[in-house]
Amino acid sequence: MPLPSMRLHGAKQCTAKSKRTCLPCNNPAAYGCRTCRMHGARKNIVSGKEHVNFVHGRRTLEAQAEQSATSRRLQQIEDAMHLLDMTTAKRSRGRKASGYLRIKSLDEIEKIII
Ligand SMILES: [Zn+2]
Repeated sequence: MPLPSMRLHGAKQCTAKSKRTCLPCNNPAAYGCRTCRMHGARKNIVSGKEHVNFVHGRRTLEAQAEQSATSRRLQQIEDAMHLLDMTTAKRSRGRKASGYLRIKSLDEIEKIII
């Protein structure tokens, strides 16, 4: 039988069943999860906007991938500018974005323009 406080406050019950007795677990489900802490509540954590710690979305995996792609494109544009002698500025320093391939020829410039 579930805890009385679960019935009073409408908390969800853990959906796990005992292997030995085949009876459902009587613990309350963890917040945002279908199961209790004893039955792997962390496995059911949702991602994205439905995650309990979601604030603004600037640090999500999608946002970080988009920022990395933009940075990679800017670095390739800088390579193209140096290759075409459009600038005499120093090259930017620091770690390059993941997936960055240096532009070394005019043919590669045509590929990034498209
Ligand atoms: Zn449980």
